[in-house]
Amino acid sequence: MRSSADLPAAAVIVAGGAGTRLGGAVRKQYLELAGEPVLLRALRPFVDHPGIASVVAVLPPDDAAHPPSWLTALRVTVVPGGAERGDSVWNGLQAIPASVGRVLVHDGARPLVTRAVIDRVLAACGEGGAIAAVQATDTIKQVDAEGRITGTPDRRALWQAQTPQGFPAARLLDAYRRARAEGVLATDDAAVYERYAGPVRVVLGAAENLKVTRPGDLEIAELLLRRMARDGG
Ligand code: C5P
Repeated sequence: MRSSADLPAAAVIVAGGAGTRLGGAVRKQYLELAGEPVLLRALRPFVDHPGIASVVAVLPPDDAAHPPSWLTALRVTVVPGGAERGDSVWNGLQAIPASVGRVLVHDGARPLVTRAVIDRVLAACGEGGAIAAVQATDTIKQVDAEGRITGTPDRRALWQAQTPQGFPAARLLDAYRRARAEGVLATDDAAVYERYAGPVRVVLGAAENLKVTRPGDLEIAELLLRRMARDGG
């Protein structure tokens, strides 16, 4: 029997959020990073990847109805997002072709993703899930609603999840179908897959693969981009 790793792969890039935490009038996915929109930088390594046969971009519904011209110029299917990130991923998954074996989900707010990180996730997600992640460098505290620390997990066992996150496509779709039926909300795709479909492993992401979220992140991303360009990638 052919495994999902033998079939073409797809990518769903989610940029359906309001992007309001950065403040300002422009949604964060459209802010320019060194002269190009953050979302374009997040999309291009997937569009250019020879192993990825189709790419879906999920935009806020009003933008999906009138996508920017730099997006329509790409080999990308545009679909409207939903209220939560999981709703946007779900809408994106509906648009991938049935022939796809593996699907990578990536945040449109992570513009510095590299080919090397994508390749590591793609290579590891044939049979189960695989996500880009980096080991925690800060000690992470568990804190209750009153601000009291309730636990200090062993840092050596803690990793920060990034995207891309890759999965056998049919199993991720089924996991999301079940999560939606049970009203389960998750902040990443691995949490949905872990709960309903099976094991997920981490592969090495990159410190540079940051999510442009808060004011200041764009400036940090510009510095990182300059250093990556200088160091050749
Ligand atoms: O909110 P968060 O930072 O986790 O968002 C991660 C990614 O998910 C962003 O690229 C954002 O645009 C996307 N998202 C989405 N639909 C939502 C909320 C977030 O596509 N309703």
